[in-house]
Order: sequence, then C-alpha cells, then structure tokens
Amino acid sequence: MGIPLASEARLACLADRAPTVATLCSHSSLQIFHGARVEGLPTLGISVGKPPRFYDAFPLARPDRFVSVPRVKDLGGAGVPLREAGAVIVPHGSFVEYLGSEAFGALDVPVFGNRAVLAWESDRRKEREWLESAGVSMPKRYEDASEVDGPVIVKYYGAKGGKGFYLAKNRGALAEFRPTGPYVIQEYVLGTRYYMHFFYSPLSDRGYRVGHGSLELLGMDRRDEANIDELYKLGAQEVLLKAGIRPTFVVTGNVPVILRESLLEKAFEIAARIVERSIDLFGGMVGPFCVEGIMTEELEFKVFEISTRIVAGTNLFVSGSPYSDLIEPGLSTGRRIAKEIVRARSEGRLAEVLS
Ligand code: AMP
Repeated sequence: MGIPLASEARLACLADRAPTVATLCSHSSLQIFHGARVEGLPTLGISVGKPPRFYDAFPLARPDRFVSVPRVKDLGGAGVPLREAGAVIVPHGSFVEYLGSEAFGALDVPVFGNRAVLAWESDRRKEREWLESAGVSMPKRYEDASEVDGPVIVKYYGAKGGKGFYLAKNRGALAEFRPTGPYVIQEYVLGTRYYMHFFYSPLSDRGYRVGHGSLELLGMDRRDEANIDELYKLGAQEVLLKAGIRPTFVVTGNVPVILRESLLEKAFEIAARIVERSIDLFGGMVGPFCVEGIMTEELEFKVFEISTRIVAGTNLFVSGSPYSDLIEPGLSTGRRIAKEIVRARSEGRLAEVLS
C-alpha cells in the first residue's frame, strides 16, 4: 500500500459514482477530456464565461458538460457544483497559474495528484533544495556578480515566459546589466534542451520500479521560444542589443523530440531520484511531471526546472508517442491519468492518487 494523500471526508463525494474528470478549458484540456472519454469516465469542462466554441470542432474531446464561472478565482465558491458532480480536478499549468496557489491548495474538491507538491515547485529556492538534495545536477547559481566565471542567464523572480531574462557571455558583459527588480544569476548552460514527460504511478507494481510504484516515460518535446529561437537570423546578439533588441523566451509552441537511446538510462535515473526524494519530503509526487533541462556536449543533463503536473508539450502525443507506444499504443498523458483514476477506484485506492 502507498501513502494516503486525501482524507475520507474529501473523497466522500465520490463514494457511490464514477469520478467525473473536470478541468479548466485551456492548456491541455482537449487531451485530458479525450483521454477520460476513451477510458469511459464522464467529463466536465470549467469555462470562464461562455464555453469556448472551438470544442465544437473536436467532437472526441468535447466535455460531456460545462460549468461556467465569471472568473477562475470563483471556482472554489459555494455556487459551483463540483462536489455535487463527483468531480476530480485534473490540474494543468494554466489552472494553477490562473487560480493562484493558495486558492488551489484550499479547493474542497478532490484533485488528481498530491497538492502538497505546489509549495515545493512554485518557490525556485525550495525547488532547488528538492532537486539538489535528490542529487540532480542543476545550473550553477551565483550569489554575486563578482563570482561569475562564464556565460550567465539572469532571471527575474516570477518572470512569466522568460520575459526580461538577460544573457551575458561573461562577467564583463554582465557589468552592463541594469536590474529592474529582484533577480537570480544562473550559469547559462550550453547544449540542447529536452522537456521529458514522465508519469509516476504509486499503484503500479510492474515496469521501472520506484518507491512503491513505477515510473513511465510518456513523451518528450522541445519548446519553441520567441524571440530567442530565431534571433540568430537577424545577426549577432551584441549587434542587436545595440539596436535595442533583447532576447526573450516566450513559449509559442512545442516540437516533438527524442533522446539518443543510450541517454535514456540517465533520464530515468534523474526522474527516479526526483520521485524518491519527493516521497521523503512531502509524501510523493503522483501522476504526470516534466523534467526540463539541457544536455551538454559532455552528455551531462542539467535540470533548470521541473513542472509537477501535465505540461502542454504532451499535446503533441494525443495518439501516443515513440515512448508511450511501447507501453500501450495510443497512450496520451491525458489517457494515462484517466487509467490511474479508474484503477485506483476499482482497487479502493483513490486516497493514494487524489488529494
Ligand atoms: P525557465 O523560466 O526557468 O523555465 O526558463 C525559460 C527558458 O529559458 C527555458 O525554456 C530555456 O530555454 C532557457 N533557460 C532557462 N535556464 C537556462 C539555463 N540555465 N541555461 C540556458 N538556458 C536556460
């Protein structure tokens, strides 16, 4: 048996019915609803104002019904019948960002995964404490500009989409940086980026065993980031800087990638250590998570970020990926979530996957 995350009171609304998969209509909701439908679960779309019309264009991903709220922040309010609907909320990146971490933590509706992870993921310092204590290699962090000994990326606290990040190729170039708020200076890692979509099941007793359960790799992507990804076409960055053109890292889309097969061993070891440490620190991370980092030419993987819920890059693999097809053909992350809910329910173990 694994670790119970949800109280009996929280799960009482699911006692006598199939859970309804509910999420906010954005980000990866089409995939989440599609996966639930394939696994035979009812679905509920939460929309801000009128339901988006584009759902009509995707009949296999349209939720069975919608509930509308005036603002995302109203979602936890008394007038929103989520417990009555037997809803299980599947959080995605936009969900937590729009609702706010405090309101998300306080939601009186069962949520897929361990909501205690939020405190560790949303604070860059705590996230580093978690990953470094798991033995994961991360980009070096400089406490002071005088320590800089190579290229750096300067990140403002809470900067959304990497706007305002500053790149400097050495300490000299950093001297020209004029901060406009609190920031951290980080080693700029040279290499190639990979965003690896893992899934940790505390219920599974086969496959790549970690903790009481097992770890799966469901896909991999690279984010398209404007304007940095195409900036080179206009000339050298130094020249562009003089013309007032600065690099930004705003995510505009995703492309599928795979990792050199011999590097998979390393990828699994890193993800396994992150999961094992999460079990010690806060009872474990359950379900989808994404390990985001850079593979250097020495084949060292440096993790700059971890997302602890379904990421939008999984939308590439609604009908399976080169990895998930080797587990079960047509397995998306959305469908994998639904399978975990179905299994937990049939084994009387919902408290281990919901919080
Ligand atoms: P973040 O806000 O930390 O997710 O970073 C946004 C983007 O900046 C990433 O997707 C990478 O393209 C880039 N990036 C972040 N950290 C580093 C780093 N240490 N070295 C090189 N590129 C980075």
